[in-house]
Amino acid sequence: MLTPHITVITGCMFSGKTEELIRQLKRAKIAGLNTIIFKPAKDTRNHKNISARNGNSLNAITVNSANDILIHINEHHEVIGIDEGQFFESDLIPIVVQLVRSGKSIIISGLDLDFNEKPFQTMSELTALAYPVIKLTAVCTKCKTKEATRSQRIVDCCDREMVGDKEYEARCLQCYKPQ
Ligand SMILES: [Zn+2]
Repeated sequence: MLTPHITVITGCMFSGKTEELIRQLKRAKIAGLNTIIFKPAKDTRNHKNISARNGNSLNAITVNSANDILIHINEHHEVIGIDEGQFFESDLIPIVVQLVRSGKSIIISGLDLDFNEKPFQTMSELTALAYPVIKLTAVCTKCKTKEATRSQRIVDCCDREMVGDKEYEARCLQCYKPQ
């Protein structure tokens, strides 16, 4: 069994977070570890899987809340993947801690900041608890020369959790403008 740990994969949109989550879960599977993957119901883009923009995907269980994760986990699961961690409430945190204490490894990917540079609380707390933390960047869509760390919303909407690809661009600090 893998030494239990909490891994957080974070960064802005289009930085490859889900791609890295899939890569880590696939390598655990190759080693013969028993994996299970969850995604929040709020992520409406796909229903039965998590998929990266490079076309990779893995089957995932859609859950309405963090508590639903516990219903699906049994003693055989060794590595637990969670995508779009920013969409979970803070009750995910004690559940993740409980799981790692019970000997499981947890890999969570999710946005660090919303489109107004405000941290997503659940991801902030998980990042503080995690080791390792993998912080990814995209290439700035505007200047195309710098590392992007911000998600620029390019449509007019105030819903913090609006899901979509066409509605956002990855931007560097210089090109990003809060809405
Ligand atoms: Zn830029």
